[in-house]
Amino acid sequence: MPINKKSTPGPNFALLSSPLDLGFTTLKNRSIMGAMHTGLENPLSGYKLFGYKKLAEFYRERARAGVALIITGGVSPDFSGRLSLLSPQLSHAWQLPAHRDLVQAVHEGGAKICLQILHAGRYAYHPFARAPSAIRSPISPYRPRALSDRQIRKLIAAFARTASLAQQAGYDGVEIMGSEGYLINQFVCPGSNKREDSWGGSFENRIRFSLEIVRAVRQATGSDFIIIYRLSMLDLRSDGSSRDEVRRHAVEIEKAGASMINTGIGWHEARIPTIASVVPEAAFSWVSGMIRQHVAIPVITSNRINSPQRAEQCLQNGDADMVSMARPFLADSEFMRKALDGRPELINTCIACNQGCLDHVFSGRRASCLVNPRACYETEYPPEKAASKKTIIVVGLGMAGLSCAFHAAMRGHHVIAYDADNLGGQFNLAAEIPGKESYARSIRYFDSQLSLLNVEVHRNHRVSFEDLRDCFADAIVIATGVVPAIPAIPGIDHFSVMDYVTAIRRREMLGDRVAIIGAGGIGFDIAEMLAVNKHCDWYQQWGIDRHFRGRGGLLEKRPDCGASRTVYLLQRKKGKPGKRLARTTGWIRRLSLRRAGVNMLSGVSYEKIDDFGLHITHHGIPVTLAVDHVIICAGQHSENSLYGQLENIGQPVHLIGGARRVRELDAETAIREGMELAYSF
Ligand code: NAP
Ligand code: SF4
Repeated sequence: MPINKKSTPGPNFALLSSPLDLGFTTLKNRSIMGAMHTGLENPLSGYKLFGYKKLAEFYRERARAGVALIITGGVSPDFSGRLSLLSPQLSHAWQLPAHRDLVQAVHEGGAKICLQILHAGRYAYHPFARAPSAIRSPISPYRPRALSDRQIRKLIAAFARTASLAQQAGYDGVEIMGSEGYLINQFVCPGSNKREDSWGGSFENRIRFSLEIVRAVRQATGSDFIIIYRLSMLDLRSDGSSRDEVRRHAVEIEKAGASMINTGIGWHEARIPTIASVVPEAAFSWVSGMIRQHVAIPVITSNRINSPQRAEQCLQNGDADMVSMARPFLADSEFMRKALDGRPELINTCIACNQGCLDHVFSGRRASCLVNPRACYETEYPPEKAASKKTIIVVGLGMAGLSCAFHAAMRGHHVIAYDADNLGGQFNLAAEIPGKESYARSIRYFDSQLSLLNVEVHRNHRVSFEDLRDCFADAIVIATGVVPAIPAIPGIDHFSVMDYVTAIRRREMLGDRVAIIGAGGIGFDIAEMLAVNKHCDWYQQWGIDRHFRGRGGLLEKRPDCGASRTVYLLQRKKGKPGKRLARTTGWIRRLSLRRAGVNMLSGVSYEKIDDFGLHITHHGIPVTLAVDHVIICAGQHSENSLYGQLENIGQPVHLIGGARRVRELDAETAIREGMELAYSF
């Protein structure tokens, strides 16, 4: 039964762990692993060789650990709706065996599984895109062709056929993707639907496509089949649905035969973050709560819910009957088991970085997870003990060293680990950046795992060559990290200059005018820390109306939050600063800095630093930036002197992370390298 609004919480996530009776079937608890592509669905990721076997193992591990329902990544009902030419489609009976592998793995694990049916509409990244009207999306190079009335009816039948095939493959249900700006959403929104026939114009006409799909799917699959409809509850575009239209749409979707309504927030083209780390946790659960008041079927909430505590809170607030989390199950396959066992502190928290998952998928690579590089590589890195137990010494417990120590201990090795300071290395600095506070949880996770696995951890112990010269170990891993690089600029020793480590640690000492040398990931972090006004409410900052008074849930006018400092962010390269930032989050960071009034200058050369400030040449013109402080974010040097010394005397030494290579190094690579080395022992 849906949770009563007045339910009271008990210990061990009483609401999250309670079953949900859908009448014809029961979900064992209130957790859903939400739809997410992994790259294992498409032919380039080994699908041809392995079918869905790798994907099945990925799901099996999560199903075994207690999640109630898994929703697959979106599968198109026809060719035009594929996200890219190689994206999955389910339209033929010959495709069923691969799906049966998936379903079987999930059922053996004790969970249920729904297939998401997604037609990309004008977001299809190929020339065969179709949409309600021939209007190109600002995030796609392809102009879609408008669907004819006959094609629309054929498409509705295609949704029903895919659902029926899913049922034959053993799926417990389907999720119909009606949000995030994909085809069905494009029909609902007047900005993308300019039709003058019975599929456009009035609100009733615009929602007709979604309702007919739900009816057709229900008719094709019968009453004992889960149909989840993912409803765009907040379009986050100025011509999006009004609050009343969303409510009416939800009511009609229920009447059309849906079993549950899931929450969709924001079109992909809306320049408002909805799942990145800057988004507050459970930032949109109030929207689900608003809709839940108007329907009798269960409502699922989603977006930035990354802990069982937060999930329980959403249920307690009466915002939803179930909670959907996608990335948290990449970060920790055992998420639900740890929650249900009352050990949530052992969960490897998703830090919402998108680096290992969405950034990979959007660049056509297999997804994984920055904090859990085994994700989607379950068959390559099985959770098995090594053939023989070895003694491994790890020097340096930044993220590379932590990952290596953890994975080696997990494989049954005897691990002794040292750090000159405490654990976490550069991640400690990242955790100080606004919006990245949860990075501290990753350090805590690895720390607690090392202690559970009886790793001998020596903190505040700087290991010397003498310590290791005569030691007996099967492997010595040098993961001593990096030190900030200091460029040779005249006046670099001036008292106003400091490196980024000092700037983060002593930020309260910084003046009102600051220049940052280097506009890489760390330069952006520092600019964000200094310039973005912390007193401005997050919703206001992004123009979201928490009262949902206007169309799409937007404020009529986004208030100017103002900058807290004058900040210059500088680079020598020509081109746009931040061009190399990650695909799914770089735009958020560039936009935040622009709005905070950060002066981003490219193509500068640094002349000198003195009492007047930083002297640069910009477009051939000498300029003096009269700043109080100059912060150096010009990359790093490897710290690896121990390695060469040990190698010279024949010790079995390995070098990983920043100590091995600083170019193109980031936390994702460091953690993955740590795991890969541990699996080689
Ligand atoms: P980075 O991204 O390589 O940027 C270094 C910056 O320093 C560049 O903008 C470079 O620009 C400048 N620079 C290099 N040599 C210089 C010199 N001799 N004099 C003056 N400027 C110089 O390195 P990072 O910012 O230190 O970041 C380290 C790693 O962590 C990177 O891989 C980064 O992607 C990752 N990271 C990622 C995030 C994230 O949010 N995803 C955040 C922080 C760090 P010019 O050469 O054009 O001047
Ligand atoms: Fe979460 Fe980052 Fe892992 Fe993606 S890569 S699941 S966002 S921690």
